[in-house]
Parts: sequence; structure tokens; C-alpha cells
Amino acid sequence: MNVFTSTALEGQCVLVTGASRGIGAAILEACAKSGATVIGTATSEQGANRITEKIASWGAKGEGRVLNVADRAQTDEFVKALEKDYGAITVLVNNAGITRDTLAMRLKDELWDEVIETNLTGSFRLIRALMRGMIKARHGRIINLSSIVGEIGNPGQANYAASKAGLIAMSKSLARELGSRGVTVNCIAPCFIATDMTAALSDEQKDALAKQIPLAKLGRAEDIAASVIFLASDAGSYITGQVISVNGGMSM
Ligand code: NAP
Repeated sequence: MNVFTSTALEGQCVLVTGASRGIGAAILEACAKSGATVIGTATSEQGANRITEKIASWGAKGEGRVLNVADRAQTDEFVKALEKDYGAITVLVNNAGITRDTLAMRLKDELWDEVIETNLTGSFRLIRALMRGMIKARHGRIINLSSIVGEIGNPGQANYAASKAGLIAMSKSLARELGSRGVTVNCIAPCFIATDMTAALSDEQKDALAKQIPLAKLGRAEDIAASVIFLASDAGSYITGQVISVNGGMSM
């Protein structure tokens, strides 16, 4: 798919969390190939090195860095070092996310906390640390990866759905706070995309899901990346506080 031009994000500096695989890796590649300087994060040194190698192989600027978004102490240091090396980050894609699925009756506090901390609180901490630079630059695009599950719920995913619905409400509040400063804040809500996160689904489960989707198939990571490019480019400059549902029509 080639919906973006090689200059759509020229001059932008993009940070994508969880860029080592799945949707984050596709977003990183699309941003790099749209002319942005890109920083992608992984939770391990090895993962970060692989990202650096990929960016170099595309002939783009940027690198992989290590970040655990659930580690409260790490974020401020990470952002300080990043801004020292790259200046203001103008596009933040909060993509890192985890699931810890189980029915509510068996959902222990630790599993609740882990998912909320990583998906919701970790995203907020990064936004808070980066918004000063965006405000100063009078330009910023914050894109948070929510989920269809945050819109319609799912049995066995109370923790995950709450984190993804929280991202939507948080984004709308921040869109109102930051709009006059030239910063937009939006969510993308995918349905089921073939990645490690959904690898546990059997073929029968995938077929059953596809039957509930008007476009009759699961989505691809590239479908999500295309929406990120749209929101981050000039084409998306008058859109804020919205949820772009990239789900084949599943949530109608
Ligand atoms: P994935 O394949 O499981 O990849 C998860 C990514 O997040 C990896 O890069 C991982 O890094 C990173 N990560 C995990 N914990 C982290 C932490 N504590 N700090 C920093 N990074 C961390 O996931 P995906 O399917 O691509 O999903 C990406 C996003 O889309 C998530 O927010 C997910 O909730 C959302 N989403 C996915 C689907 C779907 O069907 N796949 C649907 C709706 C929404 P390491 O490689 O270093 O572990």
C-alpha cells in the first residue's frame, strides 16, 4: 500500500513507542518513509538496536532507544535525553500496549494495575513530558492507540478495555487543553490486526471475527500506519479530539 508521499512528514520528529514489532513497527516504517526523523522504542537493548538497523536500512534519520513506559522514573530522563539530541518531538505515537486477559472474577489487582499503568498512565506521562516542547514549537500531533474494545467492551478484557476507553477520554480533555497551542490530540481505534497480540487466536476464532466485520477480513498493521500518517501530516491539521475507528466497519 502506498498512501503516503515521501515528504508528507518532512521536518517532523516522530517518537513511536513499542516500535519493535506489530503495529508500532509498521507506523515507524511509514513515518520514516514519509520523510520524518524517527525514534522507535523497545523494552530491550537488543530490540532498540534492531530498530536502529532498520531505520538505517531505509536511509532515514533516527534510531531505536530503550523505554519501559510502565517505569515511572524512566520517562522524564528518557525525554530529557531525547530532546537534547533531537530538539522538540513534534509527533508522539503512544502505541506501546499490553493485554492481560481474564474474566473479571479472576482479575487480580496486579493484572489490573499492570495494564492501566502501561497502556494509560504510561501514555499520559509521555504526553506530559513532551507537551512543553510541542507548545514551544507551536506544533504537535499526539496520536494514542486505543482499540475497538475501548468503544464497545469485550468479555475477559475489563482491564484492557478500561485502559483504552481511558485513552479516549484523556485525549478529548487534552485536545481541549492544547488546541489553542497548535497541538492536536487524537486516538486511533483498530479492531483485530494480525500481530503478536492477536497470535493466540485460532483460525476458527479469526474466521468468526471476520464474519462480524462488514469488510469481511481482519485489518493489517499498515492500515493503522496509514491513519497515523494522515493525522500527523498537514492533511490532518484540523482534526482534534477524535477517534478514528480503523475497524472494517465493525463498530457501526
Ligand atoms: P504487540 O505486537 O504485542 O507489540 C507490543 C509493542 O509494545 C512491542 O513493541 C513491545 O515492546 C511494546 N511494549 C510492551 N510493553 C511495553 C512497556 N512496558 N513499555 C514500552 N513498550 C512496551 O502489539 P500490537 O498488536 O502491535 O499493538 C500495538 C497497539 O495497538 C497496542 O496499544 C494495542 O493495544 C493496540 N491495538 C492492537 C490491536 C490488535 O489487534 N493487534 C487492536 C486494537 C488495538 P517489546 O518488543 O520490547 O516487548
